[in-house]
Amino acid sequence: MLKQSFIHLSSAINKQPSAPLQLLKKAVIIPFQQRFLSSANQELITHSEQFNLTPEQLEYQQLAKDFTNKHFQEHIVSEWDRNKTFPMETLREAAQLGFGGIYVSTDYGGTGLSRLDASIIFEQLAKGDVSTTAYLTIHNMCCWMIDQYGTPQQKERYLPALCSMEKFASYCLTEPNSGSDAASLRTRAVLSEDGESYVLNGEKAFISGGGSSDVYLVMAKVSNGTASSKKEESSADAITCFIIEKNTPGLSFGKNEVKLGWNTQPTRAVIMDNVKVKKENILGEIGQGFKIAMQGLDGGRINIATCSVGGAQQCMNMAGEYLHTRKQFGKPLSNFQHLQFKLADMATRVHASRLMVRTAAAQLDMEKSSHSTTFCAMAKRFATDECFDVVNDSLQMFGGYGYLNEYGVERYLRDLRVHCILEGTNEVMRLITSRYYLNLYKGGQQ
Ligand SMILES: Cc1cc2nc3c(=O)[nH]c(=O)nc-3n(C[C@H](O)[C@H](O)[C@H](O)COP(=O)(O)OP(=O)(O)OC[C@H]3O[C@@H](n4cnc5c(N)ncnc54)[C@H](O)[C@@H]3O)c2cc1C
Repeated sequence: MLKQSFIHLSSAINKQPSAPLQLLKKAVIIPFQQRFLSSANQELITHSEQFNLTPEQLEYQQLAKDFTNKHFQEHIVSEWDRNKTFPMETLREAAQLGFGGIYVSTDYGGTGLSRLDASIIFEQLAKGDVSTTAYLTIHNMCCWMIDQYGTPQQKERYLPALCSMEKFASYCLTEPNSGSDAASLRTRAVLSEDGESYVLNGEKAFISGGGSSDVYLVMAKVSNGTASSKKEESSADAITCFIIEKNTPGLSFGKNEVKLGWNTQPTRAVIMDNVKVKKENILGEIGQGFKIAMQGLDGGRINIATCSVGGAQQCMNMAGEYLHTRKQFGKPLSNFQHLQFKLADMATRVHASRLMVRTAAAQLDMEKSSHSTTFCAMAKRFATDECFDVVNDSLQMFGGYGYLNEYGVERYLRDLRVHCILEGTNEVMRLITSRYYLNLYKGGQQ
């Protein structure tokens, strides 16, 4: 099945670009990559990127790289970033390759690969476009949540269209007054009079894909409306996950937020004003929503960290080549020992980040436990911080040119910054990690 889908995938990617795309290619002078990034570098997959991969994984990696080279060229992504274009059709093309539901079972249109495989694919995509790839990872996370916790009817209804990206999905946990303390969310779901539905009221903030997505996974606290249930409602045990379709009456969206980066995907508030959701659209059990949301985020954190690794690798490749081409004081920059050592540190940081991300992905493939949650948190914290610094160091190597939009690095810097904040801030990642280790030492199990 997998083989078949990859034969299909490979033939799809090898299709000639459409005539309009070819015209566009001729008309637009690719400002950066042709000038500073040689064709050799564009083809580059470092030894570190390929470390320890199976022949199949090398194949997925190559497929993702080919997609990136074709669809995420610098001038295209730069235009999306400038115009705040959400490239939905390009995402649908990615889905044709199986990238819409990478770790969703093949029974419902998914690709049936592992988290580790997904990480290898996302890394290559993020090298070309961090922001669009990051949305794709959130969409994949939502698909997995439905695959993992959905009823056969829910899977049948939603997954095929989501995996093909005919439909898009969003994850809705954060609220204006509930961010890091996610369990304090205030969106309420009250049983309707006929007992067939829940009526949701509340507001979700910062929702990636908000307004464009067709399916929203909304965490809300179920309430029976009586005073005695108030205490219960204030705990995470009341949180329940609802699948809400875009056209449901009472569902509306805020303005597209103006952001530092992640401009190729919309971020909007999702507002619920007496939104009636049938009981059959509860994902998992009543009260299981917080667990579902957190399990989704374990994988989400690996994915976001992977996007940081891809972005940092790309910036380092560009900077490394620039060191050979730019001359100051009569010599190429590559002759200065400070910059040589800086490059060595950057390579080490990217490699270490990748190893942590892949280890966490492999751990999550093996088991879902507090161990894997901690591995994911550590990888997310480490990789997003280190890779942001690598991008910043790359920008510094370009001097003033690094600050110019035309040279590409500044977009990566803007896009990677938010990875230290979302899907749990890096302070929250430290909370998760320290809690785990303190607990371990308490029991004397080390
Ligand atoms: C572009 C973008 C896209 C997003 N997409 C989504 C999405 O699709 N779905 C979704 O649900 N959410 C999304 N988010 C929300 C994101 O997950 C939250 O912003 C994040 O969890 C932090 O919450 P907050 O912004 O309310 O910050 P706060 O929780 O208010 O934190 C403020 C600061 O205090 C620190 N802090 C808080 N508590 C502690 C503590 N106990 N110890 C130490 N430090 C602490 C934090 O680390 C942070 O530095 C998105 C955010 C952005 C910016």
